[in-house]
Amino acid sequence: MERLLIVEDNKTLSKLIALKIKENLKFEIDIAYTMHEAKLFLRIHKYFLVLLDLNLPDAPNGEIVDYSIKKEQHVIVLTGNEDKEFRKKILKKNIIDFVNKDGISNINYIVSTIERLQKNKEHKVLLVDDSMVFRKQMSAMLKNLFFDVYTVAHGEEALGMLQTHPDISLVITDYHMPVMDGFELTKEIRKNHTKQDLSIITLSSDENDEIISMFLKNGANDYIKKPFSKEEFSCRVNNTIESLENLNLATNHANRDFLTGLYNRRYFFNHMSEYREEMAQHVESYAVAMVDIDHFKKINDTFGHDNGDKVIIHLSEILISNTNYRDIVSRFGGEEFCIILKNVNKYSALDILEKLRTKVEKAALYTKDSQEICFTISIGFTMDSEESIEELINQADMMLYKAKNEGRNIVLSE
Ligand code: GH3
Ligand code: MG
Ligand code: MG
Repeated sequence: MERLLIVEDNKTLSKLIALKIKENLKFEIDIAYTMHEAKLFLRIHKYFLVLLDLNLPDAPNGEIVDYSIKKEQHVIVLTGNEDKEFRKKILKKNIIDFVNKDGISNINYIVSTIERLQKNKEHKVLLVDDSMVFRKQMSAMLKNLFFDVYTVAHGEEALGMLQTHPDISLVITDYHMPVMDGFELTKEIRKNHTKQDLSIITLSSDENDEIISMFLKNGANDYIKKPFSKEEFSCRVNNTIESLENLNLATNHANRDFLTGLYNRRYFFNHMSEYREEMAQHVESYAVAMVDIDHFKKINDTFGHDNGDKVIIHLSEILISNTNYRDIVSRFGGEEFCIILKNVNKYSALDILEKLRTKVEKAALYTKDSQEICFTISIGFTMDSEESIEELINQADMMLYKAKNEGRNIVLSE
């Protein structure tokens, strides 16, 4: 588990902050009440982040901040001082944030900031600016926020970088640059990337206010006017990344089944209409298979509904781990699943489906009180044809019905 260090001589406050963090996040937390103790901790452990009070008994003027930065720590400063000039002076240092420590809302803010920083580690950010000084400065800020940072000097390089790193989540681009400027870059990016898979923030010192709406109308998510404060920059970057995550979360909810995390019916049909269009150019044969648990009612009756759910989840794991990543495994509802096996012929499809059937037959699943739950599945399948997807599913369903009549725990096709 990663560690946090809180350096704060007010014992009640430091313990309260530690408690709030522990309630919400997974961290080992150390508390130091003096600079001397903090130094000892910093010698022993590596920290994800340190929270520092500026006024300690043996370091009354923020000496701990400079010391921690020298030790390459990620720093959040806690303060009781409201003075504007003082705030500016502290913010000039390479810290992540500066938080007033009185009041529970500020402690909650600290917790949500740490949570945000943890998630930032998952994101790649591409910084596009022709000024090396500016690139260095912003890159340091972004790294301090835990992002994985890539830098390039103009739009054309940025497009190349996006091709080699298609999982970049945020592009931060300057407007005026040689070769390809930020506006051309924004338009180019939006030809291939929706706001769902990539966010764009543009930066410019251009005085013309129309520029802002021009960018926003052409696909930028946000615009930051130069010069900007470090605080504004981090807030806007964090907000943009958070919106991207929320958008993805919402789409995931719409496309996935809640119990198993498999694709749902809605996604299945959307995907199939796209896939069949694709197949018009590049033909590969595929199989449509309907899978249904045998005597599932009896499993529910014998072991209870919760264990029934466990069976459904376990089956979905078997189906996913024994099919290809390009295949589509979806839950249509209840204990009924539809699978598309791509790039197979009738014989290889039968092989794969037989393997699924025997894996399920041999699976060992237990209730909380160690009773063994055995279950089997029946499968009906058909190979693709000119028929509609609804008709193919219908044919697979008829084969499934036949499998049930022939005694269950079998795979059948026409
Ligand atoms: P067969 O072998 O003919 O398929 O018989 P069966 O009992 O599996 O089929 P039937 O369709 O008669 O019953 C399915 C049962 O699945 C009825 C329903 O209560 C139960 N069920 C549907 N959805 C869920 C679910 O999400 N969780 C649990 N635990 N049970 C479910
Ligand atoms: Mg059934
Ligand atoms: Mg059924």
